[in-house]
Amino acid sequence: MAFELPKLKYDYAALEPHIDALTMEIHHTKHHGAYTNNLNNALKGGEWENSKIEDILANISKLPVAVRNNGGGYYNHNLFWEVMSPNGGGQPAGDLADAINQFFGSFVKFKELFSNAAMTRFGSGWAWLVKSGNELKITSSPNQDNPLMDIAEVKGLPILGLDVWEHAYYLKYQNRRNEYVDAFWNVINWDEVTRRFKA
Ligand code: MN
Repeated sequence: MAFELPKLKYDYAALEPHIDALTMEIHHTKHHGAYTNNLNNALKGGEWENSKIEDILANISKLPVAVRNNGGGYYNHNLFWEVMSPNGGGQPAGDLADAINQFFGSFVKFKELFSNAAMTRFGSGWAWLVKSGNELKITSSPNQDNPLMDIAEVKGLPILGLDVWEHAYYLKYQNRRNEYVDAFWNVINWDEVTRRFKA
């Protein structure tokens, strides 16, 4: 049972002007598509071929680097498309809002810390909001690594992720990662982040 590239729940242009349609299309079809195909090829015929992606990532230190890179890429982009929405933005409510206030002081402070994680990740990688036991943590990871991997510095369940690879923003923002990070706050799907928080 091979992994499949998921369909997006919104059009490529739906996140405009924050994320442009051409970036979305290339990012989904070419980048995410390649991670998916390369993951399937890397697993073919091996003992992990029919495993859940979460189990693969939890054992990534035992697997070839192609599985680490492409398995991470497959999982991370699945999450990324879902934590964005054309009706996104604003702030979370309820238990997630309470937890953000508890662990980071305020939503404003959380926004500052998460944005800082995204800005200070050198080169390609991701910024994460992670549920780790009963705690929320902010972290970042290089390349396509993520907090589900057994090699991760900060482990836990990623509930929000921001792709800071240049392929995620260069067409529209060129070198201005800060503008892309600012724009991301307008498309965050807090309902989906909350669903993951409660899972
Ligand atoms: Mn990407």
